[in-house]
Amino acid sequence: MPSFAFFKGEIVPIEEAKVGVMTHALHYGTAVFEGIRGNWNEEAKQVYLFRLQEHFQRLLGGAAVLKMKPRYSAAELCGITVELANKCGFKEDIYIRPLAYKSSEAMGVRLHNLDDDILIFVIPWGAYLDMESARCGVSSWHRPADNTLPTSVKIAGTYVNNAFAKTSAIENGFDEAIMLTPDGHVAEGSGENIFLVLEGKLVTPPAYNNILVGITRDTIITLAREQLGLETVERPIDRVELYRAQECFLTGTAAHLTPVSEIDKYKIGEAEVGPITRKLQALYFDCIRGRHRSYMQWCTPVFSK
Ligand code: PMP
Repeated sequence: MPSFAFFKGEIVPIEEAKVGVMTHALHYGTAVFEGIRGNWNEEAKQVYLFRLQEHFQRLLGGAAVLKMKPRYSAAELCGITVELANKCGFKEDIYIRPLAYKSSEAMGVRLHNLDDDILIFVIPWGAYLDMESARCGVSSWHRPADNTLPTSVKIAGTYVNNAFAKTSAIENGFDEAIMLTPDGHVAEGSGENIFLVLEGKLVTPPAYNNILVGITRDTIITLAREQLGLETVERPIDRVELYRAQECFLTGTAAHLTPVSEIDKYKIGEAEVGPITRKLQALYFDCIRGRHRSYMQWCTPVFSK
């Protein structure tokens, strides 16, 4: 099936969307990106884009940090994305990748005096962590300190840090890495936030612990509070608390809500998937597929009826 991209201000066949070899972002990682899911709902014959506005707000916030000039508003980018996904016409789970990048074909390490642009493309994409539950290893690759690289912004270049962690986890026989803060507290996975259930409480690292503040993280905190009456405690987490957790799961746009069964070969909890994880997972999947009436404001339909 042919796919399309939004590139240099227009929707073109994806194979025509090409950048030059001197593009600044290619050399220095001077770009910010997003990952957005479109989730297929078989009964409604609809693809719902999940929390589209929030993703573009985060992208534009990051673009401003990289001194890019705002060319489109979040609302305009939402409109362009719906048009693009509609034109691509995939009737399955999709993944949307917007990238705001330094587009000047110019050398020299800097953020200033460079042009920038935004591209968006769509691919069909099913499961990312393709498993019922993940086996994780704490990585020797730590998250960068905020004054090294701000982790609250999805800067393309930063992801080399995550790539080191992910690949070493896989090469060591795990499914995913858990990365620590520079001072040794639990931060997050290579592309996911982390939650623990400790003595019946839902606990997750706070924004100041070098995490990307995930939109899925916010979705889970909201669902836990509104649907299960469970408040999430945001506080620094020690490494050994991972080993003592009754339940653990990872959250992210790509990974959805993936239960964790093992960390550093310590088995987590009694069951493969704990009861709180199971409930949140069911609620979350209902929401993202547009099946939960209370959260339809998070879902943007691709196809008009
Ligand atoms: N942490 C990192 C490092 C990520 O790359 C992602 C994926 N964007 C997340 C957390 C989860 O963020 P979100 O739920 O917004 O996808």
